Amino acid sequence: MEQNTSFINEQEVASILENNKKPDPSKVKEVLAKASEMKGLNLSDVAVLTGISDPLQLHELFETANKIKETIYGKRLVIFAPLYISNLCANECVYCAFRAKNKDIVRRALNQEEIKRETKILIDQGHKRVLLVAGESYPKQGFQYVLDSIASVYDVKTDKGEIRRVNANIAPLSTDEFKQLKAAKIGTYQIFQETYHRETYSKVHLGGKKRDYNWRVSSLHRAMEAGIDDVGIGVLFGLFDYRFEILAMIQHIRELEQVFGVGPHTISVPRLEPATGSDIASHPPFAVSDIDFRKIVAILRLAVPYTGIIMSTRETAQMRRDTFALGVSQISAGSRTNPGGYEENIDDEPSAQFCLGDHRLLDEVIRDVASMGYVPSFCTGCYRLGRTGADFMDMAKPGDIKAHCNPNAVSTFMEYLIDYASPETRTIGEELIEETIASMEGVAQQRAIKLVEKVKQGKHDMYC
Ligand code: SAM
Ligand code: SF4
Repeated sequence: MEQNTSFINEQEVASILENNKKPDPSKVKEVLAKASEMKGLNLSDVAVLTGISDPLQLHELFETANKIKETIYGKRLVIFAPLYISNLCANECVYCAFRAKNKDIVRRALNQEEIKRETKILIDQGHKRVLLVAGESYPKQGFQYVLDSIASVYDVKTDKGEIRRVNANIAPLSTDEFKQLKAAKIGTYQIFQETYHRETYSKVHLGGKKRDYNWRVSSLHRAMEAGIDDVGIGVLFGLFDYRFEILAMIQHIRELEQVFGVGPHTISVPRLEPATGSDIASHPPFAVSDIDFRKIVAILRLAVPYTGIIMSTRETAQMRRDTFALGVSQISAGSRTNPGGYEENIDDEPSAQFCLGDHRLLDEVIRDVASMGYVPSFCTGCYRLGRTGADFMDMAKPGDIKAHCNPNAVSTFMEYLIDYASPETRTIGEELIEETIASMEGVAQQRAIKLVEKVKQGKHDMYC
């Protein structure tokens, strides 16, 4: 049965935005006070915040976002790497280097041996989570190619490590295919609507299955019906007015919450980056300035406090640093966005999906993050203990996240430091772990001490 997609109500978004174009300062204060209760915001509240431009109000917005982030997530930052398995694609997304008619890139779908080699490189850098990414066209095995690829990633084991959670960012599937994806043990299924604005959507998607807005916007319904309860949502910022996009994305989130009792596990905020063979990618019609980009992250933190926010290496090291304090809880590091990119190891490879803003290796990112006082987490515990979907949210909401996630963050960080870090990173990291444990209280502190001790004795994969 075709999914009703009227939950994205463009008229409603337009009229709420119109009514809150220039919010008065008392209204802004009221919304910020409401946000501090960490129960989320409604569409009108969010519209009020999108109307902020006064530097003082922006400062207050950022302060509120920082408080919420610290209260719910503490200083943890979850680390992952994308794994591009194929750039074959039958679609014509005008902003993407992988679009079917682009002759300027070399096409490649990795075979299973090549996927295992890429995986081994990521494991040897210290990664524990990957996000599997592909264009929308698979080699002759069809969708089975994706399932085989996930199995290949999980298959690779070294004496020190393995990938413990595979997330996926691939084209929308049928409910049956989503069931197979779940059976393949993926963590989060992630898909970005790109733009919620239907007219813009049809202008930037010129061919292939992706032209169908409704099929895409209903994909998370099918994923959740199939039992995948950690899903990731996102917008490609730069295609249309960011104010519209945020409100429409909140409509999507509220719809999932209403139908399934739990909203998305993560939100991604990709901004358009230059891409080989794409004009629009270098000249976004609704370019988002750096200050507006920070504002977007902060507003999302206030609107959906318990949903993780992901910041990729599309952004520069400085922008990534700036947004940690505003609500980001997951970052990629050391990324390559062309299939085979880790083995080839060429920076700014023309066959990449888009240009990277942060080119640093994992160790350098970890050192930087740790020197800022953030604890890089390689934890995959929740997913492996079945704490997903509503169970995760139940744990997150009363603040229990600190009693599990923080000890797990320090133990997996210690594992990274012992097994993979450079001496300089290890020194900075060990100091941070000591300080972090000292600042913990009660059961969280006891758990952290126990887990870290076990890791120091040579045990791996310690979590609670
Ligand atoms: N092919 C699948 C799809 O389109 O849903 C999944 C993978 S696609 C490679 C992942 C995401 O990359 C897209 O959803 C889009 O938001 C993003 N992307 C594409 N071109 C981009 C660009 N030029 N700059 C930044 N992000 C881009
Ligand atoms: Fe293909 Fe995805 Fe790129 Fe569109 S965004 S051209 S579907 S890889």
